[in-house]
Amino acid sequence: MEDFRFNNKTDIRFGRNRIEEELRPAVQQFGDRVLLVYGGQSIKRSGLYDQVKGLLNGLSVTELPGIAPNPKIDSVRDGQKLAKDNDVDVILAVGGGSVIDAAKVIASAKFYAGDPWDLVINASERTKLAQVPVVDILTLAATGTEMNYGSVISNPETHQKLGTYGPNSPAVSFLDPTLTYTVPANQTAAGSMDIMSHLLEQYFDAAGANDVSKGLIEGLMRAVIKWAPVALETPDDYDARANLMWGATMALNGIVRSGNQNGWTVHPLEHELSAYYDITHGVGLGILTPRWMEFALNADTEALFARYGRNVWDLRGDDDQMVANQAIEATYNWIENLGIPMTLPEVGIADEKNFVAMADSAVSVGRLDVVPYVKLNTGDVVSIYKASMQPLNFNK
Ligand code: NAP
Ligand code: FE
Repeated sequence: MEDFRFNNKTDIRFGRNRIEEELRPAVQQFGDRVLLVYGGQSIKRSGLYDQVKGLLNGLSVTELPGIAPNPKIDSVRDGQKLAKDNDVDVILAVGGGSVIDAAKVIASAKFYAGDPWDLVINASERTKLAQVPVVDILTLAATGTEMNYGSVISNPETHQKLGTYGPNSPAVSFLDPTLTYTVPANQTAAGSMDIMSHLLEQYFDAAGANDVSKGLIEGLMRAVIKWAPVALETPDDYDARANLMWGATMALNGIVRSGNQNGWTVHPLEHELSAYYDITHGVGLGILTPRWMEFALNADTEALFARYGRNVWDLRGDDDQMVANQAIEATYNWIENLGIPMTLPEVGIADEKNFVAMADSAVSVGRLDVVPYVKLNTGDVVSIYKASMQPLNFNK
């Protein structure tokens, strides 16, 4: 096991409608000048926007609406200006991962004189800055941003989608599973795939024996595998939404990664797809993950793939190679059954013209030739993108 520091102070308020009693004091403990950040129309349609505005009545509330999926740096720039002009004391983010990610970078940008894109490119500078406290109300189970230090911001002009991190995780996160009843099927599926991918990225890790991490991850994967189809079938099933929501948070709040080396692979590959084609993050992960697995399975890795098959998918048999292959097929089938499109052409990526540039960038941003469990060079990444152009055939 590797050395680690685990330090996470996010105050989690989990359950039905806790905001009614608790939102106002949770916000007001930091001051009366609030920047309210949200996305498109979903919180207006659900009535959450009106409820929040009512609960903040009398405070000075400045609004930053319109944070798009794969949040863009321009929104962060707008937020920086509003945060400075109104000298806000606290940011309240209401929405999914995109809204919260943007809010977290705006929280740093208030204390930065330059362009906030600098803070995305250079996170170590960002951690030296002060940060406005962020309170959030999560409306989509996926990213784990509600209890971690990370954000992912896109710059369409440069075709970059980059992760950055700040000095603090959100101060208070309200996790109300009922707020996710309205998440449409495609976003429920994509969010569940994002959770599964976070878990897989941390399971297939190059550190030595870390059975604490592996055991926690296996349990969390089993929960996501079980409950995602239930949420799709019955969108207002509380237990399904609750398991996905807390599973998403637990998958990426730093607990399961502790003691690992943490070299991620599929996320850097996906960020290139989103950067070039603005596709849904979880959909990109759903397409790439089984192709990465096929690529990564070899004599050195098959014991871990077989453990994954036995402990997560209940596969039986002594032949590691066979169980490993069955585990990849089970993963593919689960993703496909969520309704996720399983090839790049289905999400509008019709040709291979950007694959080399994307692969080069993924290798350099993710240090894929140095850090992951299975190292990748540009050619390897191109081959994974190419394999994603057609359906996988398990009967070869
Ligand atoms: P999202 O991009 O925040 O939201 C996706 C869509 O779902 C939006 O159109 C949003 O609509 C809608 N939506 C959200 N909540 C809803 C609700 N309750 N009812 C109906 N519609 C709802 O999705 P996300 O998967 O949470 O976030 C994805 C982003 O997070 C990506 O950029 C990804 O790269 C990043 N990410 C971050 C981390 C991290 O640790 N920070 C980890 C993984 C991924 P409205 O705009 O109308 O609200
Ligand atoms: Fe993710």
